[in-house]
Amino acid sequence: MTQQFDDAIVGAGIMGLAHAYALAKRGRRVIVFERNAQAMGASVRNFGMLWPVGQPAGVPFQTALQSRAIWLRLLDESGLWHERTGSLHLAYHELEAAVLREFIAEAPHTGYECVWLDAAQITEQSPVINPKKLLGGLWSSTEICIDPREVVAGLPTWLHKAYGVQFQFNSAVINYYHPIVWAGGQQWRTDHLYVCSGEDFQTLYPEAFAASGLYRVKLQMMRSQPFGDTLRIGPMLAAGLTLCHYKNFQDCPSLPALRERFENEMPDYVRYGIHIMASQHARGEITIGDSHEYNASISPFDKEEINDLILAYLSTFLMIPNLQILQRWNGVYAAHTDELCWTNRPAPGATIIASPSGRGMTMSFGIAERIVAANLGEH
Ligand SMILES: Cc1cc2nc3c(=O)[nH]c(=O)nc-3n(C[C@H](O)[C@H](O)[C@H](O)COP(=O)(O)OP(=O)(O)OC[C@H]3O[C@@H](n4cnc5c(N)ncnc54)[C@H](O)[C@@H]3O)c2cc1C
Repeated sequence: MTQQFDDAIVGAGIMGLAHAYALAKRGRRVIVFERNAQAMGASVRNFGMLWPVGQPAGVPFQTALQSRAIWLRLLDESGLWHERTGSLHLAYHELEAAVLREFIAEAPHTGYECVWLDAAQITEQSPVINPKKLLGGLWSSTEICIDPREVVAGLPTWLHKAYGVQFQFNSAVINYYHPIVWAGGQQWRTDHLYVCSGEDFQTLYPEAFAASGLYRVKLQMMRSQPFGDTLRIGPMLAAGLTLCHYKNFQDCPSLPALRERFENEMPDYVRYGIHIMASQHARGEITIGDSHEYNASISPFDKEEINDLILAYLSTFLMIPNLQILQRWNGVYAAHTDELCWTNRPAPGATIIASPSGRGMTMSFGIAERIVAANLGEH
């Protein structure tokens, strides 16, 4: 007999899991289909940075805070490892310090919880930060570190136990004609299909994706050996290059001059969209990245030149003796130039929710809450 669900979800990445949670906690019967034995996309390949401070003021930042509140609830309930580390943006040049100070000056109006710390205060928080020529930095309290590999592997079990969500792994959804879903050679009945297929634009509704304006972005990443408790970086870290990457800094008057400086002095970093961030997980492994290559430039083969550039810049602000890189990988996400999160209704009962570019871990639960509330006519 064909099994019946209220909602079916395509993809067990963080967007699929967030929609499963938002629906199941409303008492709905939910099934999640994942084509692999476990999710292997962007959601397990990232830094695990829940990073509200990187979102532009207004709806994106408010959605990030809403997402953060939901994350904290479910991380506490599920017992999955996380740390409220906060974050530091470090300034080693006057222009970097100027951008950060301009951002902080607007914080009373924009709502960010951030302050300027001088060099001594920063090295007190994180003794592994290079004090030489350090001018200071922006401390923000809202960021949370998770381990994406553990969270994305652990949440299905918890969602099943706590809310009865059913998971069907090794099952690619190949068609939906309301109310029937075809996946893994079987059929199911469902009123709604939420398509959270990440960077797969081809399997379901390719014509909707083709008209969407979505594009693909590849990032190179690395992970160090585990340091246990012998070396902790403290807050999650970013430095000057990041100021040109996140849109939260876009209105700072000194940003164009900083961007010009990087274009003149560090063209390789600009060419590969490199900015350096670091997070540290339960066993002390440090996740380091990243670079940005787009669409036709995306190749399955990583560039060692990019990894060298990343490690060279990292060593300017992080002093880690005997840093060994144990893992290197890349990840690809879907992005949209204008939309916080591109959505579409390609057929009766079906909603596509694209990855919200490089901020999906941060935004997922806030976005899912808003989409599910709207779909169920709650406001
Ligand atoms: C290297 C890297 C670093 C990042 N760092 C951060 C960070 O620190 N903080 C942050 O907020 N964001 C970060 N991001 C962005 C974030 O990881 C993504 O926005 C988010 O993971 C996207 O989630 P998703 O569920 O949409 O996609 P995915 O994680 O790609 O999941 C999609 C899933 O759908 C499955 N699927 C696809 N089609 C089908 C089908 N037809 N049937 C069944 N299953 C299907 C796939 O197998 C996959 O598991 C980073 C991204 C990358 C790549």
